[in-house]
Amino acid sequence: MANAVEQLFAVKVRIAAAEREAGRDAGAVTLVAVSKTFEAADIRPVIEAGQHVFGENRVQEAQAKWPALKAAFPEIELHLIGPLQSNKAKEAVALFDVIETIDREKIAVELAKEIARQGRTPRLHMQVNTGSEPQKAGIEPREAVAFVARCREVHGLAIEGLMCIPPADENPGPHFALLEKLSKEAGVAKLSMGMSGDYETAIAFGATSVRVGSAIFGSR
Ligand SMILES: *Cc1c(COP(=O)(O)O)cnc(C)c1O
Repeated sequence: MANAVEQLFAVKVRIAAAEREAGRDAGAVTLVAVSKTFEAADIRPVIEAGQHVFGENRVQEAQAKWPALKAAFPEIELHLIGPLQSNKAKEAVALFDVIETIDREKIAVELAKEIARQGRTPRLHMQVNTGSEPQKAGIEPREAVAFVARCREVHGLAIEGLMCIPPADENPGPHFALLEKLSKEAGVAKLSMGMSGDYETAIAFGATSVRVGSAIFGSR
């Protein structure tokens, strides 16, 4: 297995170059290192190399490895990037610092309830199904702006960003452009888009965070 720390630094160099090329400020893009399927022992050296923002796609898997890592490294910021079941809202609010995958009313209701109950306020992003793929999570693009407003007005939830996963077999550029346009219309500042195969493209389209897994940790 290639060295995750070396690959982390290589990705950071490419992010910095993509920021420059796009005329963005240095450090404008946050790297979310996606550690799903990897063990705490694989993740630790990456934390020790200075990476503090991580993404996981399953609540249960994250619960098994992150409480101990967060206790050891209090500066960790953990993002939930996978679909959230409403019966896991309690655990998600307790563990994650950013929940990126709000995509329906029921989740908004459950999260609002848990945030009030626990007094813990993770930052929130809404997932948009930019390709309208039936098997994929995310709100339909045409409903996204109104749902951001409903989250704020009805549920008291401040959505600070939008997130998308473009269809695997399509040019991602138009999907990133659509997400950027929706964020302007909805008045949200953050854009979580771009993965190992397309994060430089996403940065050109205005990503404020990129979610990179295999390019750092190796194939899953
Ligand atoms: C797994 C995953 C990633 C990272 O994918 P790579 O191609 O390994 O970089 C990014 N976003 C989401 C939502 C994921 O589930």
